[in-house]
This record gives sequence, C-alpha cells and structure tokens, in this order.
Amino acid sequence: MTALTSQKLWRPYTQMKTAAPPLEAIATRGTRITLKGGRELIDGIASWWTAVHGYNHPHIAATMADQLMRMPHVMFGGLTHAPAERLGARLAALLPGDLNHVFFTDSGSVAVEVALKMAVQLWLNRGETGRTRVLAFRGGYHGDTMGAMSACDPEEGMHRRFGAYLPSQVFCDLPRTAEAEAALDAALASHRHELAAVIVEPLVQGAGGMLTHPPEVLATVARLARRHGLPLIADEIFTGFGRTGTMFACEQAGIVPDILCLSKALTGGTMALAATVATTEIFSAFWSDDSAAALMHGPTFMANPLACAAANASLDLFETEPRLDQARAIAARLADGLAPLDRLPGVRAVRVLGAIGAVQFAGAPDLADLKRRFVERGVWVRPFGDIVYLTPALPIETGDLDRLIRAVTTVVTETARD
Ligand SMILES: *Cc1c(COP(=O)(O)O)cnc(C)c1O
Repeated sequence: MTALTSQKLWRPYTQMKTAAPPLEAIATRGTRITLKGGRELIDGIASWWTAVHGYNHPHIAATMADQLMRMPHVMFGGLTHAPAERLGARLAALLPGDLNHVFFTDSGSVAVEVALKMAVQLWLNRGETGRTRVLAFRGGYHGDTMGAMSACDPEEGMHRRFGAYLPSQVFCDLPRTAEAEAALDAALASHRHELAAVIVEPLVQGAGGMLTHPPEVLATVARLARRHGLPLIADEIFTGFGRTGTMFACEQAGIVPDILCLSKALTGGTMALAATVATTEIFSAFWSDDSAAALMHGPTFMANPLACAAANASLDLFETEPRLDQARAIAARLADGLAPLDRLPGVRAVRVLGAIGAVQFAGAPDLADLKRRFVERGVWVRPFGDIVYLTPALPIETGDLDRLIRAVTTVVTETARD
C-alpha cells in the first residue's frame, strides 16, 4: 500500500493503490535489464516487443549519437531531411505491392488514427458522404486514443466502459469458419454504404490475448473487403519487423492491404515513431488541385530526425544480421519448449507464431503473484488477462531463451496446479 500524495507519476493500466511498486531499471544491454541494486533480469518481452535487436545495439546507438549532434529535430512542415526521405523510401521498398506513401507520426495509436482518418477522408474526397464507420474484429486491439479505442474489441477490450463516448463501429468475428465468413460477408453487404474501411491485425491479435489465425483467414478478410469495395487497413504495429517470421505478417497471406500501420519495433525499441503507409490508389484520392483534399493531419514531432535515423539503423541491421532466421529459430524452440504445457488441466491453449509464444490459462490467474514469481526467477515476463507470453529480442542467445522457457514452464505448472 502506498501513500496517495507521494505518487507523482501515473502508471499505465495500473491500479496504483494496490499494485506492487514498479522496479527501478538503471541500465539495459542485449536481452538484460539491470535493476537498481545490481540485479539483472533476462527480458522475455523486449519492452512490449519493441527492442527487436536487443537493447543498446551499438550500430543504432552510434547512428543516433551522430544524428543527435547534427540535428535532433526540425519541423516537417515545409522542410524535409535525409533521415525521413531515406526511411520513407526504404519502407516503401520493403513493404509489399505499392504501399509507397508514408505518413510519419509518433505512436502506434496515432498511426491508427491517421489510417482511420485517411479512410474517412478518402470517401469525402471522392464525393461520397456517410461513410463514417469501420468494420473491426472481435479480439482486436488498435490503441488507446479515441478512434483506435473504438475499433478495439468492444466486450473484452480494456475500453469497454468508454462505449458511449466512442464512435460506434461494426464488429465481426474473424472468418475462421464458413459460418463466420458468411456472417462477415453479410455484415459488409448490409453496412457497406456507411463503412469507410475494414481494419485487422494480421495473423495475431496481440494485446487482445495473442490470438493467432492462419494466413488463409487473413486472405479471406482481404478478399471480402475487396469484394465490397472497401479499403483494408492492416495494423502491423505488433507484427511488423520480423516478429511473425517474415518481415511483415501480410506477406504470409500474399495480400497487399490498402493502408498499413507500423510502430513498436520500427526504431528497434529506441524512439517513439510510427508510420501509416498507403497504396498509390489511396494516395491518389488526396492528390488534387483542391487544397481541402489534402490529408488533414500533422503532428508537431512528425518524422523526428533522431527517430528516423534510429529506424534507418534498425533497418540496416535487418540487412546485415539474420533476423528472420533468428525469428524462425525462436519459433521452433518456443514450440518445443512450451508444447508440453498444453497437457496441463489448468492450461487452455499454447500458441506459437514466429518469435511469439503464449500460454493461455483455463481460468483467471493471480497476475500480481505471477509477476512476482517471474522476477524471483530472474526473468522479466509480464502476464496480462489469462495470458503469459514471450516476445524476446530476435538475437537472444539460446541459453537465455531456454531460461525464459524454463521460467514460464515452472511458473505456469505451479500456477495451473494450485
Ligand atoms: C501497441 C499497439 C498499438 C498502439 O500503439 P501505441 O504506440 O501503444 O499507441 C496499436 N495496434 C497494435 C496492434 C499494437 O500492438
């Protein structure tokens, strides 16, 4: 229990009166976090899966140091700079199809806001009014700001209580079965005149519970969106940059969404940066002699040069180091290591996709107790809801990965037995 008046900082999604106080981190390196007092934890989640190369990679640090001395920031209105130009061109080259037009922002939620705004304004620019809603999927998570929240799962989501305050969207189940596919098709048909877009997290719904789906399901979503003439927004904020074993999750379904959102691992876990990327067809709806047709958005720190330099350095590492092979090797080890847990009566499911391993309990575990047990074992793992998951840095050493898997196995076994 802590004193109310001594609390200067609000913590994320935390009931501060009852939560254990946060641990103080004083340094990071590779896949380790050093706590005040000198204790080291092996990081199993790479700071919400951002630190994809591990912490303090010397190449990113050196690139950032150079940019910091040269020009840490300059406004993007009326000015441009090499770090943003280079990053935009590289993202365009890496992304599938003609996803070639990049709008930079500073967080995942805002990247989603921009995607939603693009979709809505796209129809206005085409002279079609009334298309103000999006179709989203149950189990989804797209961020904490108003528009993004409105597209999160309306029941399970962390934002249920805000319902009356948010725009109302159309929700469907992912088309995992023929029935769900027919229901999605019917919902698209009956709502198409009020819909601006379909939004989906490709292959895995992350914060909604690490719920995976096969590439065919994603391909079905893309096909139905197209059939009904709606742009598809792929929220790759979790999946982008190798997490699922390919650079982007959409590649595994062979689809090209119309708008794609990136953030989390974009700068290798160093700086806040996000991107909303559109195809030429989308971009062309804003390309006009009419100034009112321009995309109406522009964050103050848009395309921050220091963040863009960090992102370029992160992309260098994807070229020079075998990140995708590492992701696939992690997948195999996670699958081997976590599979036996599936047989425990207290475990509902084990899911592995690329460098993501998740164990879902059958009931609601005591999260505070789980978190404490992991720290006692020298690992940093943060269960949420009924999920314990690992999303380690891709170059994690086998010994560290095995210690993480052992810690999860032990703690889950103890908990599922209690
Ligand atoms: C984390 C996340 C977001 C929100 O990003 P923030 O940077 O936290 O605003 C949106 N969508 C997905 C899929 C995410 O994983």
